[in-house]
Formats: sequence, structure tokens, C-alpha cells
Amino acid sequence: MTGQFAEGALVGVLTTQPLGRVLDYRAPEGGCALGDFVEVPLGPRRVLGVVWGGPQGGFDPAKCRPIGRVLDAPPMRDEMRAFLARAADYTLTPLPAMLRLATRAPGLGDPPATRRVYRLGGDVPARATEARLRVLDVLRAYGGAAVTLAELLAEAGVGASVVKGLVKTGAVVEEDAPRDLPYPPLNPDRQGPRLMGDQVMAGDALVAAVAMGGYGTTLLKGVTGSGKTEVYLEAVAECLRQGRQALVLLPEIALTAEFLERVEVRFGARPAEWHSGVTMTERRRLWQMVAAGQAGFVAGARSALFLPFRDLGLVVVDEEHDTSYKQEEGVLYHARDMAVLRAAIAGCQVILASATPSLESWANAEAGKYTRLDLGARFGVAELPDMRAIDMRGEKLPSDRWISEPLARAVDARVAAGEQALLFLNRRGYAPVTICRACGHQVGCDDCDARMVEHRFLKRLVCHQCGATKPMPLACPSCKVEGRMAPVGPGVERLAEEVAARFPTARVAVLSSDLFGSARALKEQIGAIAAGGADIIIGTQIVAKGHNFPLLTLVGVIDADLGLQGSDLRAAERTFQLMRQVAGRAGRRDKPGVALLQSYQPEHPVIRAILGGDEEAFWRAEADERRIAGVPPYGRMAGIILSSPDVAQVFDFGAELARRDGPLRRIGAQVFGPAPAPIARVRGRHRVRLLVKADKGAPLQAALAEWVAQLKQPANLRLAIDIDPQSF
Ligand code: ADP
Ligand code: ZN
Repeated sequence: MTGQFAEGALVGVLTTQPLGRVLDYRAPEGGCALGDFVEVPLGPRRVLGVVWGGPQGGFDPAKCRPIGRVLDAPPMRDEMRAFLARAADYTLTPLPAMLRLATRAPGLGDPPATRRVYRLGGDVPARATEARLRVLDVLRAYGGAAVTLAELLAEAGVGASVVKGLVKTGAVVEEDAPRDLPYPPLNPDRQGPRLMGDQVMAGDALVAAVAMGGYGTTLLKGVTGSGKTEVYLEAVAECLRQGRQALVLLPEIALTAEFLERVEVRFGARPAEWHSGVTMTERRRLWQMVAAGQAGFVAGARSALFLPFRDLGLVVVDEEHDTSYKQEEGVLYHARDMAVLRAAIAGCQVILASATPSLESWANAEAGKYTRLDLGARFGVAELPDMRAIDMRGEKLPSDRWISEPLARAVDARVAAGEQALLFLNRRGYAPVTICRACGHQVGCDDCDARMVEHRFLKRLVCHQCGATKPMPLACPSCKVEGRMAPVGPGVERLAEEVAARFPTARVAVLSSDLFGSARALKEQIGAIAAGGADIIIGTQIVAKGHNFPLLTLVGVIDADLGLQGSDLRAAERTFQLMRQVAGRAGRRDKPGVALLQSYQPEHPVIRAILGGDEEAFWRAEADERRIAGVPPYGRMAGIILSSPDVAQVFDFGAELARRDGPLRRIGAQVFGPAPAPIARVRGRHRVRLLVKADKGAPLQAALAEWVAQLKQPANLRLAIDIDPQSF
């Protein structure tokens, strides 16, 4: 196939509408080509689509309608179509839903919006008013280049009428300019910091890999502060030198601002930014520029993987172990895995950077599929913080206090020295449980299988599952006794009370995602803390992610055992990663750090591994357990989540599915359940889960598709397939 279709020829068009299949249309006047964005009639509507291939057949050719118009947008490249198709197959997502991810550019196909710009005209008067002369001076300084009205008014310090007056005289020319101005170029040859020690070899290896081109994945492992970012920015520099495009994925918007500033220092300009906080206009511009190859460097959220890069040369997944890379709603995909797939199709390098890699990436490196590069010591600091456990069994704390004496003394000492201490507790709100002291009733959410969490700042109880809130009840909703409702257990807000009482003169800051209205407010608070605006920081897991607090020398973990309960096979891995990340916040550069972990089971193997046991031995032991259990990364898994307002229906349907396991048995896969899902009720819908386990090489997706297609779903029942579920 040439990819060109003459007027009237039948072509297959994929639309963004949930029909699940490619539809046949006739090429419009002037013909069309593979990858063209088009507008096609669908019923009474006109919808967005892409010319996906030749005709699919199965339609009456006489009834195939012509394509409405070919949009004025850069056509989708073969590479992107291949990526969407492969991603759809892997995640068992209908193609239209994948296409929607790739067309999140507002106004796709509309002519670029224009705006008025100004430059010096021919009839420049010799004499003019003071204000007019200032305008002319500014334009002269631009040497014939066009300036926007906003810039011109700001620089000349005049009102718009002055400029309009000059336009009338012919001294200034007004014209239209496309809004989509190019991004300022980045200069890869500006001198970055000189790499040192292990950084040199890692940097050289990555630069060489990018220079050589072709696909390859590298796991870049090194403790926080070891210089991973500096090293991968060298690879980005090489990519830019080659004239190719680089993409860096970050797990959180709050981290982007810091990153952008750092890139500006390194390359003289900022990368383009892509995430949910970016304006529509800006997104549109970015999408166009990326497609035109004029945005050389993009930093953003996981959805940036679906941008139409013209010549992708490098993808970096920073903090690759981060759980937020898994999209848990809509299309269920893991950005790390999709980054590797995207790069394999584009034929480019991927760097997965982390201090505490996922077991998946660790195992891929062990198996030789990924190259592994280790950065040893932290830059300028001898080693990891000194980590110790505080055995809480000996502490005899009253039931409403959580800071042990040894931890309190350590905080006192740091604050007295003008340094900062971080108290880490991964629980938002005031108290995780509200209980009636008369009857034992615990307040739960009306719509979810979850306890309501008291939030004192909001003065309400909040469901962390669905966000529903209700006032704190005076009387028990169950036994109606008044005045006996009591908080049980600590959240960061309650810990803040204890800190205020125990350290009355210290300046305290609480960092919890729910306490900030916007990413900007959070960023400002983080900036203020970094600059020394607090003595004691109380934080949830947002503090574990990459933020730089130069004065922080002590980390106290309030409850190191928190993640170890439950039956999830990933609990050990997650706890290890989180504790190591948090501890890594202590001590940068010249100030050595200390991390104290409060635990009721300090002899637990995971706690011991965190405390500086042999890290590789920990990963090997974890790997062995997973291998024996036959679960990822040594086996394959999928979760099937069924949900319905009708609890009997959802269990019956699940049981019937489990009975008809023929297609699964044929590939040697097993099905477990139905069992209540990890969260058994959300927003009034009952949820059950089936887990499917298969051997590593088994054709799981095909079998799953055949399996679930056997049963027709009732209208109010939803079925979602989660390949590689995050908990099992
Ligand atoms: P990581 O990404 O591993 O946390 P960074 O790249 O952020 O580490 O490095 C930590 C700090 O040390 C940063 O402020 C960085 O600029 C600095 N740094 C790292 N390597 C060097 C180097 N070779 N020369 C100068 N400063 C460095
Ligand atoms: Zn709820």
C-alpha cells in the first residue's frame, strides 16, 4: 500500500468514538493519505478520526460516506499508529480510547489563532510626542522584528492608543502573526557541572548510546543526590545535539517547576511543559510544535508519551518506581512500560532513573534486558544517612502520643543547631478512625467500603476513596449516645498538635497534598521550607518525592510498620522504596543526615533491609519469593474488576466467569476469585475482583479477550481489565 488514496477510494478510518472498530469511508476530493486527521460523518454528527489503513470490508460499499474534510494538522506518523495499536493490544483497550489519548490537543485541525504584532514602518517622523518616541525606540531596538502589543506596551510604558496612533501615521506597521511561536532553543553545548567519579562512566555510556541511536533501556540507579539528574541531562544534551527530541517524564506536577528551572540553568532555556495544569492554548501550541519537531525537549506527565514526536531520540522516566505512573482510571496503563514500548518502536534510548528501582526493572537488568548503571556515593557526601530503628515496645507512650523520647531528643538537637527535622507519617488528616466510645461504632462512608477520616482543617470527615464529606457527628450514628465520638490513631494534623505541644518554640510546617489548593501553593510552601522557613516539617508521602531541602538533616519515621500489614505481595517492595526515599531526604552536600525509624518490629526482615542491610540481598530475596509464587515479574497477572450497584449480580457474574475458564486453562492460566476487590465498594458500586495468573511466556491477552467475550455483560455492570495490576 502506498498510503495514498485517490478521491472516491475506500479507506479505513479510526474515530475517537467508542465503536471499537475501524470504519470504511470514501476519500474526499483531493484524496487523502495514511495518518491524515479527518472529520467524518457518523450518524448525524461529525467526529474526529485518523486514516488508519485500507478498507476493512464488511460494509456495503455503496453506503460508505465520504470523509468530510482532511484537517490541517500534521498527519499521524506510522510510528504513532504502531504504538497505539500495540498499546491497545497489550492493555486490552479499544483502539478509539487509545486514539483519544493521542488527540488531546484542543482545536486540532483549526487554523492557528492569530494575534497582532507590530514593527517599525516606513514613515518614521522626525518629531513626535515623548510617548510616541518611546514606542519607536523600543521597536528600533528590536531591529525590524515584530513585537506583540503586550510586550510593546510594557517596554515603552505607554497606553494602546499611542501605538494605534502611530499605526495611523504609517510609522508603525500592524500585522497578523501566528500564535504558535517556536520555543526558545536550548543550547546543549553550555557547560554543565563536571561529572565526577561514577558519574563520568555512566554519563559517557549514556551519551554513547544516544549518539549511536537505536533502541535500548538503561536502569540508572543511585541514591538521592548521587547526580542521576545531572547524568541523564548529559544524555539529553547529546540527543539535542543530534537534532532529535527528548522527553523526560516526572511523577508529579509539583516536581516539574524545580526541574524546569534546573534545565534552564543547564541549557539556557526551559523545556516545553505538558501536564494537566498547562493551559489549553499552551497545549495546543506544544502539540503542534512537537509534531513539527520544533520542541526539542518536553518535560511532563505520563500522558506526554502520546504526543506526536517527529523524531524521538530519548525518553527518561525519572523516579521510575513511583506508583503514580500507573494510570488507574480510564485506560489502565503503566507509563514506565509504555515508555519502553514507545522507545522500542521509535528506535531510541530509554533511561529509567531511581534510587529504589521497581522489582520489575531490577529483574530486567538482572536478566540482561536492561543495561544497569550504578552511581555510588551521593555527590559531595560520603554515604547514605545513618539509619537506626527505635524499638517502640520499650517506649510506653500514652495512646494519644506518637513521638518517642529518643526521636524527640534528636529533633531538639537539630533544631537547636539551626537545622531541619522531618517527621514522616503517611496519613492525611487528623485521625484515620473515628469511633464511638460507647458502642464501638466506626464512622464509614455511605457509598464506599472505607472509614471516614477526620480532617480538622476542613472541620469535616472525609472519605479518601470517593472524596465525600460529612460533618463530625455529635451523637453516634449507631447508638445515638452523645459526646462519645473520639479520634483514634494519628494523621499528620494530629501529629502537628503533638509537635506544637512538645516543641513550642519551633516553626512547624505541614506538607500534605490536601492542604494546598493548587500545585503552585504547594510549590511555594516547598520553596519556603527549602529556604529555611521551618524548623520541623511534618509530611505525608509527597515529601518523599525528589524535593530538595538543603537544611534537612534528620528524618523521623513515625510508623515504619505502616506498610507491612496486609497480604499484598508488593508490600515489602513498597515499604522498602518509601522508607529509603524518605530517609534519603536527610543530609545533602556537607551535612550528614540521620534517619530514625520508629517500629514495633525492628527485627522484621524488611525493616532490617531498610536499615542498611545488603540491598542487593534484599532484592534477591524478594525476587525469589515472587519467582516461587509465580507472580510478576516472573509470571504474568491480570485483574478483572467487575462493578455494579447490585451486589448479588456482580458476584454471580464473577462466579460464572470463573466457571467458564476454558480459554484460560488452554494457556495454562489460573483464575482466582471472585473476591471483594481491594476496595469493595466505591461510589455506591460493589466491586469484585478476579485475578488471573499465567506463565511469563503465555499469550495472556488473547486468552483474556476470548474469556470475557463469552458472557454478555448486563447493562449496569462494568468490567475493567487491568494487565499487571499494582497489588496482588
Ligand atoms: P539525583 O537526581 O540523583 O537526586 P542530582 O542530579 O539532583 O541527584 O544531584 C544532587 C545535587 O548535586 C544537585 O544539586 C546537583 O546539581 C549536584 N551535583 C551532582 N553532581 C554534580 C557534579 N558533578 N558537580 C556539581 N554538582 C553536582
Ligand atoms: Zn466514599
